[in-house]
Amino acid sequence: MSAKPSISDQLLAWYDANARVLPWRAPPGSNAADPYRVWLSEVMLQQTTVAAVTPRFEAWVARWPDFASLAAASEEEVMGAWAGLGYYARARNLVACARAVAARGGFPTTEAELRQLPGIGDYTAAAVAAIAFGQRAVAIDANVARVVARLFALADKAEVPAHADRITPDLRAGDFAQAMMDLGATVCTPRGPRCLLCPLRTECRGFAGGMPEAFPARAAKKARPTRHGTIFWLERDGRILLVRRPPKGLLGGMRALPTGAWADAPPGLAGAPAAAGWRLLEDEVTHVFTHFRLECRLAAASIAAQEVHAEGEWWLIADLGAAGLPTLFARAAQLFGRERWG
Ligand code: SF4
Repeated sequence: MSAKPSISDQLLAWYDANARVLPWRAPPGSNAADPYRVWLSEVMLQQTTVAAVTPRFEAWVARWPDFASLAAASEEEVMGAWAGLGYYARARNLVACARAVAARGGFPTTEAELRQLPGIGDYTAAAVAAIAFGQRAVAIDANVARVVARLFALADKAEVPAHADRITPDLRAGDFAQAMMDLGATVCTPRGPRCLLCPLRTECRGFAGGMPEAFPARAAKKARPTRHGTIFWLERDGRILLVRRPPKGLLGGMRALPTGAWADAPPGLAGAPAAAGWRLLEDEVTHVFTHFRLECRLAAASIAAQEVHAEGEWWLIADLGAAGLPTLFARAAQLFGRERWG
């Protein structure tokens, strides 16, 4: 009688037949993944969905196909190309990492060395070491943690890494990591896992217990505080005032519409970029950041050229789409536009 296949064997057989085709991936069983593309995709996919990342990834690699071209790009260009993907520290780290790779003469191949690079934490280092370099490394993102917690019916998330390590094979560690990601994204989904389609069903203690969704146990959510701000639309001769946000802090270094400081109560016109006949619009923009929810009033004014003393760049309104505004400001600009042109 032949031995029962291991969890990794069963998962890899499923992956061979069901792997998602993604532009940064090599087909199952091949070792041809491009480290640059693997690294870039892993950074882009932190906090962002595959559907949102895929077109942005294609445009990015068409513009910067390798570490050397990205290292030579200006931070401003890169931040502009990142606009709308959120969590902007990732974009700054991409440039810093590409420059560090150029300076050291190549991308390192071990998990420990990868972790030394800007923006590469434990998960990304393990994922890149496994997927791009075929090393045995245990990459645990939210999808993988969920699958492991259900497989072993773990009430405590702290037990996930040891169990994930135990089922990671020595060979095909990169395919195994991607197979776990695919299983978590397409079968063992947060709600309504499709256990009847799952290759690990007979191994799964969560399924056997009849309540796979109970794992992992959910932590109580902390309430997010609300902060307030005002976004200013200052117009002059078909141009609009844009500023660069301070390098540190929220949306640091991004081109933006002027704002005052965020406050605990609506700050009115405090922090307006110039004295002008400001008019507050009815519409508000709300944006949810990791640590707080931001509610912004919108204030608009027009001035004549000779009245201008504001610092920043006067951007042609017709070209605003090319300014690379983060989502909060792009949505505000849309509302200002709707108010202006109906
Ligand atoms: Fe997830 Fe269900 Fe598969 Fe268990 S059987 S790993 S709960 S999809």
